[in-house]
Amino acid sequence: MILVHLFNKEITKKSRVITIIISCLIYMLMSFALRINSVEPNDFLINQVEIKGFVLRGVITQVQILVSVYIVLKLNKEGYITALVLNTYSLFMAVFFLIRSRTVDSLPGVISYIAVMIIITLIMEFKNQVFHYLKKIEDQKIDLEISKQKLYDLAYYDPVTRLANMKLYIEELKESIKEAGQENRHIAVVCIDLDSFKTINDTMGYYAGNDVLSEFADRFIRVLNDNALVSRSGGDEYFILLRDMETVEELKAAVKDLMCIFNRSVKINGIDFHITGSVGVSVFPYDGEEADQLIKNADLAMFEAKNNGKNKVIFCTNEMKEVVNRKMILTNHLYQALEKHELFLHFQPQIAAEDRKINGFEALIRWNHPTMGLISPGEFIPIAEQTGLIKPIGLWVFRQACEECMQCDSEEKEQIRIAINLSMEQLREVNIVKQFHKIIKEIGIEANKIEIEITESIAFNKEFDVLHVLNELKRVGFLIAIDDFGKEYSSLNRIRSFPVDRLKIDMDFVHGISSGNHKDRAVVKTIIQLAKNLGVKVLAEGVETQEQYQFLKEHGCDEMQGFFFHKGMTAQEAGNLLAGKRK
Ligand code: C2E
Ligand code: MG
Ligand code: MG
Repeated sequence: MILVHLFNKEITKKSRVITIIISCLIYMLMSFALRINSVEPNDFLINQVEIKGFVLRGVITQVQILVSVYIVLKLNKEGYITALVLNTYSLFMAVFFLIRSRTVDSLPGVISYIAVMIIITLIMEFKNQVFHYLKKIEDQKIDLEISKQKLYDLAYYDPVTRLANMKLYIEELKESIKEAGQENRHIAVVCIDLDSFKTINDTMGYYAGNDVLSEFADRFIRVLNDNALVSRSGGDEYFILLRDMETVEELKAAVKDLMCIFNRSVKINGIDFHITGSVGVSVFPYDGEEADQLIKNADLAMFEAKNNGKNKVIFCTNEMKEVVNRKMILTNHLYQALEKHELFLHFQPQIAAEDRKINGFEALIRWNHPTMGLISPGEFIPIAEQTGLIKPIGLWVFRQACEECMQCDSEEKEQIRIAINLSMEQLREVNIVKQFHKIIKEIGIEANKIEIEITESIAFNKEFDVLHVLNELKRVGFLIAIDDFGKEYSSLNRIRSFPVDRLKIDMDFVHGISSGNHKDRAVVKTIIQLAKNLGVKVLAEGVETQEQYQFLKEHGCDEMQGFFFHKGMTAQEAGNLLAGKRK
């Protein structure tokens, strides 16, 4: 340790020169004294102590050795050279004296100087080695520091924007929550998602996309004070932490200021792009007292901003939280709904326009939740689709609809078809057609009594080969209807190649008939005409009034379905209805 300290000690140039001069002076003084004593060898008497001349010479030589060793230790290279020069000189003088005096008096001196030169050379070598090791250790320490920094950066910083990552953000947020809780202050978690960033990435390339992300990172930092923390959570999403806000108003003003960064366009490869952002904000303590809750709620508000036309700030509200909460409860409960027999089917009659006779029934699923009451399929089918539960549920609907149809006593059932709705996720399943085939075989119902309804958005989806599945369904003998026709993008090119039996006009157009909307009337007439030209049947959904019925009938719509005729009913009620002569 002492050595390391000695070697590492910084010696200034000035003190080095002084050390050399003093050492040289002492050494030369000793040489001088030695010379006098050698030429006139006297014994001294100091305080009654007799000092022999040869003893004195020995002491002087020792002092010279000490000086030599000292400067080598103290000054490294310069010290070594100085000591070497001094001792060479002394050696030379001692040899000279040896030859001249023809005595061996100076022989110990000659040996001493040679020994000193060997010792200081060894010391120097040793020092060099130690220096080498110390340097190595020092280099390793530096490397270790660099690696530590790199690891830290990797763990806590986003490599693209050099902003904090979510790990660091969450740690800081937790700390800020603690402090804000004690001081009754507000914190805002601001989630910002760039609008249409994907387009930039797709059209201008990945590196241009990264430049945009860094540009916005810089803008955020410039507009915010040092107390705020900006992070990138991945993709084109940033999280900002606004701390130490006394009032919500102060907080709102800060978020408003933040939005001005989107006023300026971004230049990419010389082209100006106007990029906006959708912003969601959650506030501590109102929207959560835990970091993950605040982040989740800010994200929620951001999605709301996206769904409401983008380029806006939306603060999290209780309603938003309730919707999510309800969805979460429904999602959890839906997993057991089948087992607990909470799902059941309603059947809505589909009638012939001409004579209002029942031609079929559409099976519509219902969920009777034990505490939340009747849940509409419009609410839980999307959840079933997201969770994958639609596969077992959809299969259950298919089997149940077939079974309930077969259990019906009415003789009329022979002329009746059952329409069953199918989700995209079901169609994606490889064995779906085989499974349906197996079920109808087991139950003993004919395939042509069953109509598979798929929505227009599924039918014209380009992600997977819908046509192939439809052809397979058709080969087994099922009928196929396109549900909610006209609602989204109808591809006339695809419809002509699809094995479709029926188009179901979306109820929005049907409702438009009685609201006097001439455009809706025109669309309805066009769809009817299109179906006729394609040689397929057409059914209007959601008929609620006499006027709608009349209009549709007059323009040649084949079938109808709606509250004007019948609402959905149980299989028992449907059987009774049929038994009452299909009216
Ligand atoms: P959809 O297939 O278009 O079904 C028609 C919807 O319109 C049904 O709503 C029905 O009750 C309602 N409706 C019928 N007549 C009228 C009317 O005159 N006026 C009004 N306002 N509405 C009428 P529901 O039962 O709530 O079903 C909503 C959607 O849920 C269905 O739309 C369908 O897309 C989906 N769905 C229902 N059951 C199933 C199912 O078993 N599987 C799948 N995948 N989806 C289903
Ligand atoms: Mg339907
Ligand atoms: Mg529909």
